[in-house]
This record gives sequence, C-alpha cells and structure tokens, in this order.
Amino acid sequence: MGGGIMNHEEALNQIAAYIDNELSISEADTLAKHIADCKVCQLEYETQINTISLVKKNANYFEATPMFLSQLDQSIHESVGKSTPKNVIQKRWNINFGISWANIGTMMISLIALVWSTSLFLAIPNTEERLTDELISSHVRSLQVDHLSDVISTDKHTVKPWFNGKVDFSPSVIDFAESGFPLEGGRLDYVNGKTVAVLIYRHNKHAINLYVWPENNKDHQIKEESRHGFNAFQWVYQGMQYWMISDLEEGKLESFANRVQDEIIKSRPQG
Ligand SMILES: [Zn+2]
Repeated sequence: MGGGIMNHEEALNQIAAYIDNELSISEADTLAKHIADCKVCQLEYETQINTISLVKKNANYFEATPMFLSQLDQSIHESVGKSTPKNVIQKRWNINFGISWANIGTMMISLIALVWSTSLFLAIPNTEERLTDELISSHVRSLQVDHLSDVISTDKHTVKPWFNGKVDFSPSVIDFAESGFPLEGGRLDYVNGKTVAVLIYRHNKHAINLYVWPENNKDHQIKEESRHGFNAFQWVYQGMQYWMISDLEEGKLESFANRVQDEIIKSRPQG
C-alpha cells in the first residue's frame, strides 16, 4: 500500500483544502484514497462541491436569492447534521450559525458577506472547468506518487475482470499495442464525487489515463478540454463518460481518442 493511512477526522478537515487544490500532491493522494473508501467523507466532499456549484449558479443571477438561500441553508444544515464539523463549514463560508435565516435583511447581508468572503467571482471556476482541473490533478498525482496502476497487466483479460466487484459497471478494456499505444493496467480513482475506473495506456514516454464512469448525459462526440499544458478529450457514449488525459501532443492524443471511441462503439453496438 502506498501513502499513509489517514484517520477520518483528519480527512474531513482536509476536504475543503483538497477542493481548493491547497494540498500537496502526496497529501491529496492520501486523502483521495481515504475518500474512495469512506462513505462519510464521500458525502462531505459531494456536499461541499454541490454547495459551491449552488453558490456559483445563483450568484450569477441575483434574482434567485430567496430560493438560493433556502437551498443553501438546507444544504449546510443537512451537511452539518450528517457529518461536517461546524468549524469546517464556518471556515469555508465564514458563516455565523447563530443567525436567523428567516429575516430577509439578514439574508441579504449574509449573502453579500458570503460572496465577498469567498471571492466568488474570481476564485470559483465553472463545473466543467472544475472537473477538468480535478482530472488533470488526478492524472498528475498518478504519475508522481507511483500510483499509476493498481493492476499492472498488458492483458485485457486480466485488467477487465479486475474491476469486477470494485465498480458497479464494466468498462470496455481494449489493447492498442499494435498501433503503438499498449495497455499498461488499470486502477480505481475518486473524481467528480465518485469512484471511477481508469485504464492506463502508454505512447513512447507518455502515460495516458482514460477515466471511465457512468453518466446520465446524452451521447456526445469528442470535445477538447485542454488546460495547464495537458491535453484532455472527453466524450459520452451509451451512458458512459470517457475522459482521456495526457501530456502527449494534442494531435496524436486526439487521433488516439478517436481510435478508442471507434473501438468502444464496435465493442458495444447500439441496440
Ligand atoms: Zn472519512
């Protein structure tokens, strides 16, 4: 087992910093492993992410204020009631839990304080940017803490069954060694609030992570989401979300993404 074992209280207290990308790579990796195994921390992580997107969504449209505040109130109280030490929420949002949410004037002052205290408009990226950042951070961690593969095998008949019982879906596992993109293995990771399957490919010196998880979005063709010097391509096919991330040159990664998409379509025909 790589990385330290982390206790639950310690993990809970680091979630806000994790979401803000304030942890070191090894701290983030240790925490991600804890979250993958801990239902309470998963819930806390999801609550914080959802609260951020709720604030972001509503802060762009101030007319939604009363609805927003009641949703935020509910979200905070649910989260506090279930799992979160108050000081974590208070630290993140600078909220005084003694206030009465019933008073509209107090609500407005609180909202303004909330927006100011979190530098909302500058600091919080939209959901898609956040997800891209999270996946790129995961990709970088996988390279730097020797956590690229949990199952190391170039044999798809070893890698595919390895996921059985670990995730409740069965990713398509296809080797592309003949085109210079050999399968190296697989692992579990925790991104976007869920445990996901990752397939690892390599082209020359470049590791390629292919993240796979079920998603209710409509099918869509490959979209580029490159950021921070990493290239990322994502698509949805038959209820599965695919994200391919690497520092491999953009054009090569895009043609590999197209190749993988084609083969997945062949292996999972419509109807
Ligand atoms: Zn925990």
